[in-house]
Amino acid sequence: MDENIVETVINSVGKAGVRSIKEILIFLIPSLVRKNILNSSQPIISIRISGDGRNVSRKVKHVMITFAILNHKKVLFSPEYHYTLILYPGSEEYNTLDITTRLLREELWQLKNQGLTIGFNSPTSNYFCPWCLIKKNQHSDLDANWTISKNMNNLRNNYTFYSGHHKKPLFDMIEIENYLVDELHVMLRITDRLWSLVIYEVIESGFFDIAREVIIKEMQRIGVRFQFWQERDSNKWSYTSLMEQEKLKVLRNFNLETILEPTRAKVIRKLWDDFNDLYSALKNEYTDPIEFQSAAKAWLNYFLTPSIGNPEDSDFIKGLYRPVDITPYMHVLVWHIWEFMEKYNKWGIKSFSCSP
Ligand SMILES: [Zn+2]
Repeated sequence: MDENIVETVINSVGKAGVRSIKEILIFLIPSLVRKNILNSSQPIISIRISGDGRNVSRKVKHVMITFAILNHKKVLFSPEYHYTLILYPGSEEYNTLDITTRLLREELWQLKNQGLTIGFNSPTSNYFCPWCLIKKNQHSDLDANWTISKNMNNLRNNYTFYSGHHKKPLFDMIEIENYLVDELHVMLRITDRLWSLVIYEVIESGFFDIAREVIIKEMQRIGVRFQFWQERDSNKWSYTSLMEQEKLKVLRNFNLETILEPTRAKVIRKLWDDFNDLYSALKNEYTDPIEFQSAAKAWLNYFLTPSIGNPEDSDFIKGLYRPVDITPYMHVLVWHIWEFMEKYNKWGIKSFSCSP
């Protein structure tokens, strides 16, 4: 970039400048939508962040961090479309970067994790669904009919229109039904829950000390590197968080009979297999949306299998899980995915996944 521009920017922002990436995005998005760079079939903004130290004069050095919109391919290499986030006199030394990039890192986390684009609540809150008006305690009602019912017009005029919204949606030019769920996240998050429910059960059984070794061995057998460890000052066990392919290996191949009693293992194995089938159907562009929803409902119904009898009696049959064990992604799997399939069957929900 031209040194004069650098000087000008420094003069205008003072000695060091930090700008909010969220605010710049809010400013840029309407024009990106006008240019049709962002639209309902391309609602995801990809950003490239670059950092560089440069000598402004022989003695003065500046560090500048900029970002560019990857979707805006035509101008990707034109400096006037590189937006400055951080600029300070000095060098790219770790501690300085640590301080100057604090806001940026915080904002990137928010953008990545909190679904900040629609200014929505965290998944643990009472009103957790971006698409419908369900409350947490209505999770178990399988006769309900939750469809995409929120309307961006209402939020645009007043973001408190629906309970659970605390901020004006950043991308309020995109209609609610055009916010698609990423199929990969559906698989990752639900598999996480299925796995942690099994771990919880093993811990409850009192055999966790023995089971840890067994689990690591079984993971080895199916080709997954896996560890347990305890954080300092904590007696809670943490374990390796798995990547996509490893999670699929666990979902498909982990022999639950190594850690659970055989009948119990079979019951849970069926739940895992059925979920794996749903995930395959989700990725298949020929899947019929209505059939998908009824299969997903049947799966959730099985997930909620109640216990029969008294735990003290010999004929007691232990059920599976409780309504509070249902996660927001399970809700989306059962109630909204079929609608996305129906609306977007032209190109398949896969086009919206962040992974190829
Ligand atoms: Zn919903």
